[in-house]
Amino acid sequence: MNFSIITPADAAYDEWNNRGVNQRWKGHPSGIIPITTADELKDALQYAVDNNKRVAVRGGGHCLENFVGDPAVEIVIDISRMKGIRYDEEMNAIEVAAGATLGEVIETLDHRWGVLLPAGQHPAIGTGGHISGGAFGFLHRHHGLAVDYLYAVEVLCVNNERQVEKVIATREETDSNRELWWAHTGGGTGNFGIVTRYWFRAAGVNERDPSLLLPKSPEVLETMEMEWDWEQVDEHVFKQLTENFGEWAKMHSSADTEAGSLFATLFLSNKVTGKIMLKAVLSDCPEEIAEEFAAAISAGLGITGRAIRKPMRWVEFALQPFPDIFVEQRVAFKVKDALLRAPYTPAQIGVIYRYLTEHNDVPGGSVGLAFFGGKMNAVAADATAFPQRDSILATACTSGWLDAADEAKSVAWTRNIYQELFAQTGGVPVPGEQAGGCLIAHPDADMADEQFNKSGVPWHVFYYQDNYERLQRVKGKWDPCGIFRHRLGVEA
Ligand SMILES: Cc1cc2nc3c(=O)[nH]c(=O)nc-3n(C[C@H](O)[C@H](O)[C@H](O)COP(=O)(O)OP(=O)(O)OC[C@H]3O[C@@H](n4cnc5c(N)ncnc54)[C@H](O)[C@@H]3O)c2cc1C
Repeated sequence: MNFSIITPADAAYDEWNNRGVNQRWKGHPSGIIPITTADELKDALQYAVDNNKRVAVRGGGHCLENFVGDPAVEIVIDISRMKGIRYDEEMNAIEVAAGATLGEVIETLDHRWGVLLPAGQHPAIGTGGHISGGAFGFLHRHHGLAVDYLYAVEVLCVNNERQVEKVIATREETDSNRELWWAHTGGGTGNFGIVTRYWFRAAGVNERDPSLLLPKSPEVLETMEMEWDWEQVDEHVFKQLTENFGEWAKMHSSADTEAGSLFATLFLSNKVTGKIMLKAVLSDCPEEIAEEFAAAISAGLGITGRAIRKPMRWVEFALQPFPDIFVEQRVAFKVKDALLRAPYTPAQIGVIYRYLTEHNDVPGGSVGLAFFGGKMNAVAADATAFPQRDSILATACTSGWLDAADEAKSVAWTRNIYQELFAQTGGVPVPGEQAGGCLIAHPDADMADEQFNKSGVPWHVFYYQDNYERLQRVKGKWDPCGIFRHRLGVEA
């Protein structure tokens, strides 16, 4: 064996086992195998398969659900030391090892070639588990999703004879493995095999120069932060502010919107936290759009908020974005998200107001709204496995807690507000006129539980819509023994 197994008897076990960001989930695998190369990874996976061990892979540790921390998982293969980012001449694409974090990708792409990958917002996220969920971030309105730049992927699959094989799948129409590439453009994580490398290059670009393969880093990046004192926010102001935010999204989310260079998130936290915050990112954004946005958000509020604009270098921002809300905390949390095709209605905003002002005992409860749309909506729903190309907003009901004694009430708060928000459709955002389903990057096992999803619509419709059958075929072909599974796994 060219790898070592850390068992519960080893002093290092707790540290390796505790790498998951969501402290709610901690598994008890009989072995953790840290690997540094793809060959070690192949052997480690073969070992798990040969010994009939339920296996899961961990990269950046940012899984929201217990896909890795499931008590049923017996072997965890940890790929966080499998690093490497380079220009691959043969592929004419930027190659990223699956153990690289987003921060490493951001820094390397910017420093070496002055380019970026429009991926997620937290620099510590691992690319291995992140990219195949679609990967949205601060710049998806300007440049699309990270998967829109995915040229190829290398995956360790387990064949019918239970042998691990290395497969490279590209987006080339002539590639017989193309469906496996497609499944990694939004088909979720831990479904088909273990990704060892991704290659990125914009579609239609063939110049043999790494500085031309991906979008240029913005010349001018500016943050805009607005803040309102909760003491001054009554129900009328709250509704107006949330409606203003939704209205802007509605008016500026087409694929060719001029406001694609403006992304914003409205962070509606519990009243006891003292303030409501809006964070915007302007990437080479025309000044008139920035001003129009600030005015539209403040319209009719009747109270004065604080607004600060700050120019920064892209890399400086992306490596430490908005530290006051995007702080990397090791807390336990529950997230229930939904995509919206139309803004929240006044009645739904009333529900949010009530949950944020009448539940002092869940101070970590919040509702976030973030702009979707723009360039990411320029792609057809079946061109990648990420189908939600017509949403204008992503929303998340979240609660976080430090003390395990607060778990039950915090989780209940999150489930209850979500249930009320989508009461018309069985307590869940059934894709339709207003809702657009859910993001597999933010998996929520409740969706597969009739106690919480009373819509009669199966969980996979929320995450994959019409793409699910195609994903099932990929699953049947590339994971015929069902080695890779979790609570929201694609089933053949
Ligand atoms: C604080 C926070 C912020 C986030 N922000 C964003 C965001 O801005 N945009 C966004 O799109 N998502 C975001 N996410 C979601 C994130 O993209 C997913 O949770 C992603 O799966 C994390 O990958 P990871 O490697 O860090 O996590 P891990 O917990 O290591 O893995 C997550 C899942 O991916 C699987 N996996 C990991 N590596 C591989 C691999 N090499 N091959 C196959 N499967 C693998 C794991 O088995 C597991 O099922 C955020 C999550 C958190 C906790």
